[in-house]
Amino acid sequence: MATSMTDQYLANNQKYAKGETVHKPGYPGKQPIQPAKRVAVVACMDARIDVEDLLGLQTGDAHIIRNAGGVIGEDAIRCLIISHHLLNTNEIILIHHTRCGMLAFTDDLLKAGLEGDPAAEKLLGQATGRKFTSLHKCSSNPSQFHAFRGPIQPLDGPRDEKSMERLAWDVRRGMSSILNHPWIPTSGPDAVTVRGFIYDVDTGKLEEVKYPGPTGSIG
Ligand SMILES: [Zn+2]
Repeated sequence: MATSMTDQYLANNQKYAKGETVHKPGYPGKQPIQPAKRVAVVACMDARIDVEDLLGLQTGDAHIIRNAGGVIGEDAIRCLIISHHLLNTNEIILIHHTRCGMLAFTDDLLKAGLEGDPAAEKLLGQATGRKFTSLHKCSSNPSQFHAFRGPIQPLDGPRDEKSMERLAWDVRRGMSSILNHPWIPTSGPDAVTVRGFIYDVDTGKLEEVKYPGPTGSIG
């Protein structure tokens, strides 16, 4: 069986983690609109993650979709459907990471803080080290921030069993959302593949998340 692009990018990541440069900078010249390697990556927006560098993606290889957490919400699904059906990608790579800010708050806490709850403001200020300044206004948009399920942990805390369980659970949630979406084919000649990973920001290495797997606990 031919090696997938995902496997080749994992091999690049091993070189990257050892300090090798695997992404070539510079304008490559005129290229087609379709990603050359037929890959779409969904990753967290964390400033410590450079998706092109850590996978050795070259300009024109892949779509890169980034948001807080690398979560598969409505907009990521929208992008993936366009990416596959109109622009011919067939491998999806999901990347969450250690020390993610999405481990350090809950949707209710952030909403309460934004709306002016003093206890929430104080907690958010303590967690981030930044004075949390409420707007004292309500909003129904965004309806969700998609903070990761489970008890909140300190911002930028080192990896431990609990945080890895919470990260893996959210990777699986995202994979499930993609694999079960009626407009994303996962069997037959037009099928896409989906693989999920946790990137360790302290080592530069990607670790694969098994799917399916345990759904984790909230305790
Ligand atoms: Zn993150």
